Amino acid sequence: MATCFWLRSCGARRLGSTFPGCRLHPRAGGLVPAPGPAPGPAQLRGYAGGLAGLSAALLRTDSFVGGRWLPAAATFPVQDPASGAALGMVADCGVSEARAAVRAAYEAFCGWRKVSAKERSSLLRKWYNLMIQNKDDLARIITAESGKPLKEAHGEILYSAFFLEWFSEEARRVYGDIIYTPAKDKRALVLKQPVGVAAVITPWNFPSAMITRKVGAALAAGCTVVVKPAEDTPFSALALAELASQAGIPPGVYNVIPCSRKNAKEVGEAICTDPLVSKISFTGSTTTGKILLHHAANSVKRVSMELGGLAPFIVFDSANVDQAVAGALASKFRNTGQTCVCSNRFLVQRGIHDAFVKAFAEAMKKNLHVGNGFEEGTTQGPLINEKAVEKVEKQVNDAVSKGATIVTGGKRHHLGKNFFEPTLLSNVTQDMLCTHEETFGPLAPVIKFDTEEEAIAIANATDVGLAGYFYSQDPAQIWRVAEQLEVGMVGVNEGLISSVECPFGGVKQSGLGREGSKYGIDEYLELKYVCYGGL
Ligand code: NAP
Repeated sequence: MATCFWLRSCGARRLGSTFPGCRLHPRAGGLVPAPGPAPGPAQLRGYAGGLAGLSAALLRTDSFVGGRWLPAAATFPVQDPASGAALGMVADCGVSEARAAVRAAYEAFCGWRKVSAKERSSLLRKWYNLMIQNKDDLARIITAESGKPLKEAHGEILYSAFFLEWFSEEARRVYGDIIYTPAKDKRALVLKQPVGVAAVITPWNFPSAMITRKVGAALAAGCTVVVKPAEDTPFSALALAELASQAGIPPGVYNVIPCSRKNAKEVGEAICTDPLVSKISFTGSTTTGKILLHHAANSVKRVSMELGGLAPFIVFDSANVDQAVAGALASKFRNTGQTCVCSNRFLVQRGIHDAFVKAFAEAMKKNLHVGNGFEEGTTQGPLINEKAVEKVEKQVNDAVSKGATIVTGGKRHHLGKNFFEPTLLSNVTQDMLCTHEETFGPLAPVIKFDTEEEAIAIANATDVGLAGYFYSQDPAQIWRVAEQLEVGMVGVNEGLISSVECPFGGVKQSGLGREGSKYGIDEYLELKYVCYGGL
């Protein structure tokens, strides 16, 4: 346990006025950024629609380290993906800022781990309350930086806040064990202790919830964190910092170091290889996850990896078509197809195939409305950037060139360069890109199958396994298929499965560990066995 070694150097110095903290190990060098006036909120430049309604108090542009707002030597622009308008210039942290943040987190850890579970719980609860009080402003920030329709952004803020609420409750339920060994004069104790500083790297598609799902668990366990948000969506992470500070979360417990994509590799390496960091928690693509696993291997750090998926959505002959269509819409088109649990491949049994495709196409036309996320009635916002649009377009072209039929959609949307039409393809075969490459966009490809065995074989023929869905009214089939799908989460006659109470995570190359639920806090706890002899 790397942190234990470093913790031996803990001394008596106080961190701010909050902790009976510890001195940094001499090798760690000094932290302490120069105190200065807190820089003000972002200047909103040239934005024409909607942003005027954002809360200036929550719109922070500097990094948040050791409880202070700190500018960096450089900045990077953040844009609204719907309009391309500039939202603000954000501190572009580099390696030195990353190291300083780790040191701040480490120093804070020495005190935070000693704060009682009840007090940690109460601080998380205050943070949760502030999120709820500010939910409308927080949701608008999400829509501005990610393009997500405002209604979904509201949903994300509640989901995000609920992780703080849930883990504020779990903080007080960390128990150990007493074990009776064969030796009569000994008792064995199992203690649960916080792992240490966690490096937290998150994606843009859930700019708030992917942070609190990790940070709620980490702080509840007594760990401190350094968060590197995605380049596209740093404002949500920084708004959370403002509220953490208002809630009284001690300085250095929650740190945020935004950086540009240009710096992500170096900053990621700096925080993931730092000896003061004991845990890496990542949500993002499998490709990046593998890079971070290499970093973790060299210093044997604990890891949690929430990576990409390729969710199958199977409709068996016995399914209720209306239910299946409702589930297909929900699981495919949430966040315009940009969630890790979005259905990527629709497998539909021959007997129900035509009815399902027809009803699905009609439901898409009726219910999906492409537009700016701030506009009333929009269900499909822009994709995050043009590269994402190119990927969907490439998959559609590839499928059509190999014989797929466009049932609806199929091309870029006239609203702007980041928009794509919700698209349904039939006559899809397994040699097409869209069946083995995560789409992350509004494309639903349908493959026809004949038998249950065939469907399971197609569903499992991939090296990832995050979520899977199927629709059936046959109880025996439901048990068989649920048990055979090689995924971490299964939706049976249900397209929306995420909830803070339930374990979220994947198998195969979709990840390691689970987030949320009663299991999520374990990712931030070490077991220590104490053999108590001489009794
Ligand atoms: P990504 O490219 O892997 O980026 C995720 C985060 O990693 C961002 O903060 C990114 O910074 C950072 N990053 C990129 N390269 C890095 C490197 N070499 N070292 C350190 N950090 C690095 O993934 P994405 O495209 O943003 O997100 C979409 C992916 O996330 C999809 O595959 C999706 O399935 C997955 N996802 C999984 C879950 C889950 O719970 N399993 C949830 C949501 C999303 P920049 O933004 O600056 O590039």
